[in-house]
This record gives sequence, C-alpha cells and structure tokens, in this order.
Amino acid sequence: MYTRFYEFGLSDEVLSAISSMGFEEPTQIQKVAIVPALKGKDIIGLAQTGTGKTAAFGIPIVERSATTGKTKNPYAIVLVPTRELAIQVAQELNRIGENKGVSSVPIYGGQSIERQIKSLKKGVNVVVGTPGRVIDHIQRKTLDLSNISMFILDEADEMLNMGFIDDMERILKEVPKERQTMLFAATMPHEIERLSGKYMHKPEKVCVNAKDLVVTKIKQIFYEVREADKIKALTRLLDVEDTSLTLIFCHTKRDVDDVAGQLRQMGYAAGSIHGDYAQSHRDEVMDKFRKGDLDILVATDVAARGLDIPDVTHVVNFSIPQNSDAYVHRIGRTGRAGRSGIAITLVTPREYRQLRLIEKFAKTTINKAKLPTRDEVIKAREKELFDAIEDTISEGSHSRFSGLIDSLLAKYSPKDIAAAALSLISEDIDVEDIDESDRQHLPSDRNFTKLFMTIGRKDNVKVVDIVKSISAEANIPGRKIGKIAIHDTFSFVEVPANLADKVVGTLNDMMLKGRRIRVQPARERTS
Ligand code: ADP
Ligand code: MG
Repeated sequence: MYTRFYEFGLSDEVLSAISSMGFEEPTQIQKVAIVPALKGKDIIGLAQTGTGKTAAFGIPIVERSATTGKTKNPYAIVLVPTRELAIQVAQELNRIGENKGVSSVPIYGGQSIERQIKSLKKGVNVVVGTPGRVIDHIQRKTLDLSNISMFILDEADEMLNMGFIDDMERILKEVPKERQTMLFAATMPHEIERLSGKYMHKPEKVCVNAKDLVVTKIKQIFYEVREADKIKALTRLLDVEDTSLTLIFCHTKRDVDDVAGQLRQMGYAAGSIHGDYAQSHRDEVMDKFRKGDLDILVATDVAARGLDIPDVTHVVNFSIPQNSDAYVHRIGRTGRAGRSGIAITLVTPREYRQLRLIEKFAKTTINKAKLPTRDEVIKAREKELFDAIEDTISEGSHSRFSGLIDSLLAKYSPKDIAAAALSLISEDIDVEDIDESDRQHLPSDRNFTKLFMTIGRKDNVKVVDIVKSISAEANIPGRKIGKIAIHDTFSFVEVPANLADKVVGTLNDMMLKGRRIRVQPARERTS
C-alpha cells in the first residue's frame, strides 16, 4: 500500500494544492480509497468522522476532471446532509481544485435560489448539495445532471437518519447509469447497504480499522451526576479543564436554549444552534465559534452534524447520546485530523446502563472520572486571576492608578489593598456542592413539576408577573411556587406537582403581557 501522496500518481497541480493545505501524509482512509477511486471504481468508504473522508473523494474528483473535459454542466455531484457541510465540502474541493481550475459550488436550502441559479448558469464542475435543494433545482431544470460521471454520497448514514433516503434514490435515478459512485459513512445501517447494492457497481469496500481511528486519540470519560446538578458539574469542568473550544450536545432544542442561557447568565461566552434558528443566525454563531469569539457552542445533534472545527478540544455530552452511532458522531467533533481531544459524558445513575450499551456497540472504553473538587475549582480560578494580573502588569496599563495607590499606601498595607481590590473585581469564589453520593436519583425538587411557558424576557415578562398570574388565576399562593427561570423567549416555573394540572389548565392559552401563552409540563431532560 502507498503511504505518501506522491505515490498515488497525482498531478503536480493537485500535489501542490494538497501540500499548501498542510496535508503531509494521507490519512488511513485516504490511503485505501484514493487509488481505486482514481481508477474509476465504485467505493464504499467506512470511517469515523474526522478521518479525512472529504479529501478521500475530493482528490479523485479533481484528478478525474481531465478525463471528462470541461462543460457547462457538472461532471460530479456530492450529496451531503446539511448546509454547513455543503459549504465546508465545497470549500475543501475548491482548495484541492484551485490549481487545476476545478470549481465547486454549494447548493443548499435557505440560500436564495436565484443566486444559486445564477452561479449554476455560469458553468460549474462540481455541485455539492443537500438532497432537498438539489431536487428543487432538478425540477426547475436549473441543474442538468446528464453529464454526471461521478456521484458521491457523503455521510450517507446521516442522510438516512435525517430522512433523505427517498431523495437520495430520486437523484440517483436522475444521473446517467454509466458513472462512478462513491459512498462514505461512519456507520453502515441496513438501508445504506441496500442502497449500495441497488445503485453501485461492484463496489470496493474500504474500511478503516477501529484501532486506526482518530477516535482512539480522543480521551473519553464520564462523570456521574444527578440531573439537577448537571449545570453545576458542567461549569466546574469548564473552569478547571484547559479548554480551547467546547462543543456541548443536548438532546432537545429546548435543552440547548436552557443550557446556553444559563451559561451566558454565569458569564461564559456561549452560543447555541439548533434547527429553529434562522440560517443567517446559525451562520453567524458558527462563525464566531470558529474565530473563538465564542468559547462554547451548545447544539443539537442535527445542527452540529459533520462540522469540522479544528480547535474543538472538548466535546461534552450534556445529555447522553441516544445510541452508539450518535455518540461516535458527536465525539468525532473533537480530535480532528489527529489532534487530541477530550469527550466528556454526563451520566445520571439512571442512564448508567445506556452508557455501557454505547460503550459496547461503539467498541470503546469510557472511563469514570471524578469531578473536580471545590478546592480544585478555587485553585483554577485563582490561577486565572494570577495570570490576568501578570498580563496587566506586563502590559503596563495599570500605572494610571499609581496616584490612588500612593494615597492608599499611606493608610493600609500593600497586601490589604491588593486583596481588597481583588475582592472588588472578582466574582465571589463560591462553589456549590454537588452531591455525588446520592445514587437514588431523587431530584431535590421532586415535589415540584417544572412547567414550560412560551413567554420570556423579550416579552418583558418578570418573575413577579408570573407569580401574580399563577396566584391570581390558579389561586395558588406565591410562597408555594418554586424556582422561576426566565429566558429570552420562554420561561420555566416550578409548581407543586399536585397542582401542576390546575396551573396548566388555567394558564394555558391565557393572555399575558399582550400575548397568548402556552403552558405545558417541561419535558424531562433525561427522557
Ligand atoms: P471526515 O469527513 O472523515 O469527518 P474531514 O474530511 O472533515 O473528515 O477531515 C477532518 C479534518 O482533517 C479536516 O480539517 C481536514 O482538512 C483534515 N485533513 C484531511 N486529510 C488530512 C491529511 N491527509 N493530513 C492532515 N489533515 C487532514
Ligand atoms: Mg465528512
């Protein structure tokens, strides 16, 4: 087997493009896929996320352009599950194809279709698209697939999960039978197997052994915490771990908003993405995260699918993934291209069994770790202060206070002055207890039911408004109401469990702050 790019018989244009991208050696999947792909063989490439599958099909796409000649219509099409991936894959293809003059265009829902039609009209070599939008263009006859000689399904398993199977088949039927088909995935569900049997010609299956997976470079640990303590555990970890960018996964959109909102309230630079946000907002948040303006991104599985952000050092499963595939996909967001990464899973005692199942099916080991102690958190925060003071002194911007210091020194000792100044600026270093010994999984607020209300800060609603409406309308005294958390567009309120139905019954559909609100029991995070 060849182990260097130049041994593959690539053109100088592509070799120099690869080297300017900083790729020194091919990854495992590239070693096994590129040579047969260059020969025109159908390929099924099975490898974990982060193993370099894009270039594994991207290099052959660009190299094989000469054999088909340039035309107005594309000779290659890549289907991907999400718009973010369409953009990312098209970018990588454009870099590989730069010297050879092979151009790729991303086509996805959410972007103005007119703009896409314009760029398609100009002539394009490779289209990278999400299935829905590609079909849209086929129907409008703005995308002509009659010259397609290379067809690539990237993240085929994810497209299946997202319900694109019919769309994939539809597009496969639109392209010429005489073609090369390549399918890439991290897992091989039965439906994808069927698809490959039906639409591929004697495919060569190339897999990357589990022991070669980049995933092995990821340190995988879990912490056992009660549901109610998850946020506390999370912030404790964020404070102590040496993180660059942290990606946090939650199960539901609501959890995403909830976790991101709480983190922001506590002063962390956290953004969030999920399917309900406008595309432009998602782009903006992603961009800030990539640049490091946000340290933390909270996301649902769908929103973060396939994303390649090199500096993600930590992936946190705030909610346990639903199955081993989801686990593998999530943790593949860190440890990209051989970098090391840490994958943390927060597990309630009740979810312990599920964790073991994930371990078994993902053929991996997830070790239990102990949460940082209070002392460790305090030490970590003190170290941060220490570093910040050192930085300030070396920058010299503190000298403007020297007059004030002189007059203080006339009265107090330097130690007292410094300590007083520090306590003025630093948040109180108070670390709440996390009760790890409580294996019963009894929520502390078990007598309360948490309700979800579709009204929030943006509607100018205050705690007192919610208390008033509950006490007045449902006739429940304010002191019986538990915690109230107001977020941007929604709120949570805890009410005694035996009165929850009554509160929902009276408040749901009621007018509050000029809006008709909906009230319902909040979905359990662990479900
Ligand atoms: P996958 O599709 O398998 O999840 P990607 O194609 O997104 O993985 O690649 C993951 C990261 O690795 C990207 O940042 C990519 O630029 C980088 N990469 C790919 N091939 C190589 C290589 N041969 N050497 C170094 N980095 C690479
Ligand atoms: Mg990929």
